[in-house]
Amino acid sequence: MEEKTEEKKVHDLVIVGAGPAALSAAIYTSREDIGTTLYEKGAIGGLAAVTDWVDNYPGFAEGIEGLKLSDAMRAQAERFGAKIELGEVMSIVGEQKLKKLATTDGDIYAKAVLIATGSEYRKIGVPGEVEYYARGVHYCATCDGAFYRDKKLVVVGGGNSAVQESIFLTRFANHIDILVRGEQFRASDVLQHELEKHKDKITVHFNTTTDEIVGQDNKVIKVVGTDKTTGQKVEFPTDGVFVFVGLDPNTKFLAGSGVELDERNFIKSDDKLMTAVTGVFVAGDVRSGATLQIASAVGEGATAALMIREYLEGHGPHMEPALYG
Ligand SMILES: Cc1cc2nc3c(=O)[nH]c(=O)nc-3n(C[C@H](O)[C@H](O)[C@H](O)COP(=O)(O)OP(=O)(O)OC[C@H]3O[C@@H](n4cnc5c(N)ncnc54)[C@H](O)[C@@H]3O)c2cc1C
Repeated sequence: MEEKTEEKKVHDLVIVGAGPAALSAAIYTSREDIGTTLYEKGAIGGLAAVTDWVDNYPGFAEGIEGLKLSDAMRAQAERFGAKIELGEVMSIVGEQKLKKLATTDGDIYAKAVLIATGSEYRKIGVPGEVEYYARGVHYCATCDGAFYRDKKLVVVGGGNSAVQESIFLTRFANHIDILVRGEQFRASDVLQHELEKHKDKITVHFNTTTDEIVGQDNKVIKVVGTDKTTGQKVEFPTDGVFVFVGLDPNTKFLAGSGVELDERNFIKSDDKLMTAVTGVFVAGDVRSGATLQIASAVGEGATAALMIREYLEGHGPHMEPALYG
């Protein structure tokens, strides 16, 4: 329901983002007549909408195009009355009962807010990376590793995720070259020991920069780098490249909001998915501890929706009765 109090347009729930977590939450809340408006600054469907093929989302035995999956989620949310606005939320200020959100369309107010803004995979910024994105250049091993059964791969990165994901990729690839810019891994000792067990399939190249991803006939064929110790160019023939150089959560707009972030700038929440600000919830990839999958984002969206319903009914975990009585 939308109310106008003191000339303020007040939404029951504003969801920031319209990716899988947001759309899942919107299906639940709008179906229960909780007035739900989503703000999306990019593609409706989030990262799922720009994912070529999704093989591991339950219910689709043969897999499904990411865009089709997100279009179906969007249609389902809109069927129950969820409104999707194209625009960016630039800040959130908690005003006790109401939250004020500054958007590209002006200020709006909400009784509850769900942050489902996801994260962005950090890029290395070399020629070929954008051109071959999702067609040989990937950022998620769980999502895309299985496309490389018995193929050769290059992994770029030297931290925990690069090592962990390389080990995972040995299930599929017959050989992996890991290119590490520094002279050693930044990954934990435990992971490095684990990597040793896979050395029949993995070759590590320290002091090696990644300079270019080269393709032919629409396919990646090699990575060109530089051996920093000799200054010589080096080439790694490959069928695909996985880049693991970090993730940037979309949380910059929360500066000054009171929403607490972890050391990597992901949003901290309690077991009801509420953030440090009463009435502001979080779901999906942007949440600290999230598992970065569509199925888990959708599950968190549904959980957050049920917690938001409790909260709006006045039974939330941190309710202050005086404010809602
Ligand atoms: C190439 C690739 C392949 C993948 N393949 C798979 C796969 O096969 N299987 C799988 O399970 N997962 C896969 N994933 C991961 C999956 O896409 C994500 O886990 C999932 O989309 C997370 O959903 P989310 O709703 O939390 O966030 P997102 O999908 O990231 O959606 C967040 C949305 O919020 C918007 N937003 C951010 N800030 C603002 C703001 N201030 N105002 C308004 N809007 C904002 C963004 O534009 C975005 O659309 C893949 C990811 C990538 C990149």
